[in-house]
Amino acid sequence: MSDKIISKRIVLHFPRRSVNEPIVCKLVKDYNLTFNILKAYVTPKEEGLVVLELNGKEPDLKKGLEYLKKIGVKTQPLSHDVVRDDARCTHCGACITVCPVGAFELDPSTRKVNFYKDKCIACELCIRACPPRAMEIKF
Ligand code: SF4
Ligand code: SF4
Repeated sequence: MSDKIISKRIVLHFPRRSVNEPIVCKLVKDYNLTFNILKAYVTPKEEGLVVLELNGKEPDLKKGLEYLKKIGVKTQPLSHDVVRDDARCTHCGACITVCPVGAFELDPSTRKVNFYKDKCIACELCIRACPPRAMEIKF
């Protein structure tokens, strides 16, 4: 494995019990990684969502990600897209309350729900929340 410094953009899903633990600091101290927090949010169910850019040597990144998995933090690369199948969307608004970054907005003049894809951090919360399954992951 190479010793070159690489960057990975990932979404971390922290379970409720670990929201207050210094997990990201441990990644820096024990795995020699540096990070930029791109977005962070605690859901109403107190699950923590953090979008991070992690930088480090490939073996350290691998070990850091293994550590996260071991302590129950789900990680997912920020490499896929979440898209809306407009033909399926019924503009019910269920996604507005679950989206942590405000990627959906009700347009009061048309009563339609707009989806602002640029804001999306691919946390996937809207996928299960959408009754007609209009939100999909595009790999
Ligand atoms: S929950 Fe699904 S159907 Fe309802 S507004 Fe959002 S995308 Fe459209
Ligand atoms: S995946 Fe859905 S809920 Fe998550 S940020 Fe994107 S639009 Fe919002």
